[in-house]
Amino acid sequence: MEQFLCPCCRSNRMKVVGSRPRKYLQEDASQVILIIRRLRCLECNKIHHELPDILVPYKRYKSECIETVVAEDNNTPLAIACDESTLYRWKKWFNSLSRYFAGCLQSIAIQLGRETEEASGPISVLHRIWFYVGEAPGWLARIVHTLVNWNLWVQTRSAFLSGYA
Ligand SMILES: [Zn+2]
Repeated sequence: MEQFLCPCCRSNRMKVVGSRPRKYLQEDASQVILIIRRLRCLECNKIHHELPDILVPYKRYKSECIETVVAEDNNTPLAIACDESTLYRWKKWFNSLSRYFAGCLQSIAIQLGRETEEASGPISVLHRIWFYVGEAPGWLARIVHTLVNWNLWVQTRSAFLSGYA
């Protein structure tokens, strides 16, 4: 795995103190089980869990399934095995957070001195997000990882409104 930085204090002095299974679902709804390491930061003493690249916290499906749904243009048939209500919740979840994501990505870009001219004219929130993380597959995972690394990911489940979907 990549170097894990403590989201609280940015230290890289992390000690593995345990592990736990994390299940997720793929496009065809088949289940995969990953083992996630539990790490303790030796600087601030907080416990963190490794977040695999392909997952969004509290989401059952891997992030590529979710990004396909939230970015769909309604013309491409979806090849993801899940029910309508799950699709609806993903869209609602993303719509409720997309402006926050775009704002965080912009603020990080500014802090890194990477802010450049935004595309002119009105563009969708999704295009603003893609401006920072690119639109190649895996963009949702890139948002999640960036925000987690900057300790901007909202940690509590209730804050995401959508529950475990
Ligand atoms: Zn720390």
